Amino acid sequence: MSKVEEYIISIPDYPKPGIIFRDITSVLRDADGLRLAVDEMTQCIGDTQFDAIVGLESRGFLFGMPMAYNLHKAFIPVRKRGKLPRETAHISYDLEYGSAEIEVHKEDITPGMRVVVVDDLIATGGTLEAAIKLLEGLGAKVVKVVCLLELKGLHGRDRLAGYPTETVIAYE
Ligand code: 5GP
Repeated sequence: MSKVEEYIISIPDYPKPGIIFRDITSVLRDADGLRLAVDEMTQCIGDTQFDAIVGLESRGFLFGMPMAYNLHKAFIPVRKRGKLPRETAHISYDLEYGSAEIEVHKEDITPGMRVVVVDDLIATGGTLEAAIKLLEGLGAKVVKVVCLLELKGLHGRDRLAGYPTETVIAYE
């Protein structure tokens, strides 16, 4: 397991009883933790050839942006619906209770573009699955998914089958 794990604080019963929330702001607040996390996530990309990193709002921005900067690649945000000013494509997906909608600027994704999708954590995989569908709908090829954390017991990877997925830390 990565040394980054030492910087994660786990909060029981947040936001609801029975949930253990993995806080990543405790990684960011430490200069060494921040550097380790971004560097290890960057290494997860390996020698995969790609054009841009797509970060998912909002914690995906915190890691995806420095990764893109380090690799001198473009960064494209996928946001919750209603926040982007230019023409967007959007998709809705189911949450445990209710649903959510995410969007991306249409013209930022060009057909054949190779993208790496970055978020902080894979739980059920629903958010990443929706983001992949959104990007593929605009003609992108998702060549890798990179997250800092993965909650294995929720089997999020099953929903990402066929997309090479790398995480730095996995919790059972
Ligand atoms: P999923 O769609 O895979 O079920 O949930 C993943 C999304 O929920 C990610 O965008 C992530 O930011 C958020 N999330 C769910 N649980 C946690 C958690 O324990 N810690 C953090 N940092 N984010 C979480």
